[in-house]
Amino acid sequence: MTTTYDAIIIGTGQAGPFLARRLTTAGMKVAIIERKLFGGTCVNTGCIPTKTMVASAYAAHMVRRGAEFGVGTGGRVSVDMRRVKARKDEVSGQSRTGLESWLKQMENCTVYEGHARFDSPREVSVRSEKLTAQRIFINVGGRATAPQMPGLEQVQYLTNSSMMNIDFLPGHLIVVGGSYIGLEFGQMFRRFGSEVTIVEMAESLIQREDEDVSSAIKEILEREGINVRLNAKCIAFSRRGEDIVAHVDCITGAPEVNGTHLLLAVGRRPNTDDLGLEKAGVSVDQRGYIVVDDQLRTSAPGIWALGDCNGKGAFTHTSFNDAEIVAANLLDNDPRRVSDRISTYALYIDPPLGRAGLTEAEVRKTGRSALVGKRPMTRVGRAVEKGETQGFMKIVVDAQTREILGAAILGTGGDEVIHSILDVMYAKAPYTVIQRAMHIHPTVSELIPTMLGELQPLSGKADAKSAH
Ligand SMILES: Cc1cc2nc3c(=O)[nH]c(=O)nc-3n(C[C@H](O)[C@H](O)[C@H](O)COP(=O)(O)OP(=O)(O)OC[C@H]3O[C@@H](n4cnc5c(N)ncnc54)[C@H](O)[C@@H]3O)c2cc1C
Repeated sequence: MTTTYDAIIIGTGQAGPFLARRLTTAGMKVAIIERKLFGGTCVNTGCIPTKTMVASAYAAHMVRRGAEFGVGTGGRVSVDMRRVKARKDEVSGQSRTGLESWLKQMENCTVYEGHARFDSPREVSVRSEKLTAQRIFINVGGRATAPQMPGLEQVQYLTNSSMMNIDFLPGHLIVVGGSYIGLEFGQMFRRFGSEVTIVEMAESLIQREDEDVSSAIKEILEREGINVRLNAKCIAFSRRGEDIVAHVDCITGAPEVNGTHLLLAVGRRPNTDDLGLEKAGVSVDQRGYIVVDDQLRTSAPGIWALGDCNGKGAFTHTSFNDAEIVAANLLDNDPRRVSDRISTYALYIDPPLGRAGLTEAEVRKTGRSALVGKRPMTRVGRAVEKGETQGFMKIVVDAQTREILGAAILGTGGDEVIHSILDVMYAKAPYTVIQRAMHIHPTVSELIPTMLGELQPLSGKADAKSAH
């Protein structure tokens, strides 16, 4: 027998549950399907547990620095990894169970647990149940990839998911991948007490960032004793006794790294390979991402794709925003679009990087006339008072329109401070609005108007080292 709904949602990531609430509130009968852990990546193996662990790592770091602040610790600093994991499990678990019971108690919403697959454009099977609806929303997220690297089959490796089970201190953690996930885990485990080597194929860490941002991040990590191996063109693995050997073939440095544990943080792939999309007529691109238009409609009428699986974003906030866009179009007669949003994200190393809009390099490529402002954190009173003066802030504005094109705040509070800039960008207001605003003393934000008062023309080529 087939049960009929007004809408079916596949996956309880960062878009599905919010959308379920909007649809049920509008009077629709909704089915939502989850095959594993409620809340998906962010809640169980992504943002929430990693940022909880980053907080433990920060505590360890500050305890070690205690004497600088006149605070005695009376001896060696120790990190209890079982307690670190227990705290992480508690925070993540509360979020998961809260979401699960919210969905299960939601009026007009039926929760199914199991793997969903399309049987046709309007039918989905989950276990022995058959469901049908005129509207189907796909929010299936993604998972870590393990690319074909020679010797990988000979060694055990960890991903962001299996890292969640670690309740011991790895002796030497090799992290392959110098982007967001790799850097966050790398610094965290260094602070817990592991030796850490980050291996990156490219010539710089987090390649999408400006060269000055990425080299400042490298310096921050190296200052804590993390080994960073760039230009690792032909990564391969082998075993040596109990150890894992990563053959890195770098231009400089030893050709191999000996470690006890290996974390692969080299990218993610969408969970679209076992969804029966071909039976629904839903097109995917070469990498398996569901092809969507600016309002997140797929190639099949009546089917939408939201979150990481559509390749339009890879963050919790982009997934949540996808749900807002779909709900606005369907329920509010409000034609919101993906292209309305401004790229923004944070990297949660310490100090964090907050980013909005274009990088300086992207602005240069547009060829437009622009102004740039930079200020090292050593010249931000709040950072000096906190003893956290690493990093800098940078902003780029259009010389003609005076609108802000992009900003990077690598420094204490950078993940929060960036929002004052982001909101002015959304308002399409000139930068002078912030420049003239009175900000609170002492904060990092109070120096943004000062930085905007010292803008210089953006020269032809990047001045990489000027800010730090
Ligand atoms: C280590 C790490 C740290 C991160 N940190 C941040 C951060 O700090 N900030 C940030 O914004 N983003 C962060 N992200 C990214 C963020 O977690 C994702 O972008 C976010 O979870 C959005 O995912 P989603 O809504 O697309 O789906 P997901 O959260 O991945 O959820 C998809 C759900 O669908 C279910 N599912 C899949 N297939 C089926 C099926 N066939 N049937 C039924 N159910 C199915 C899955 O079990 C899962 O529960 C991080 C990611 C990782 C890996």
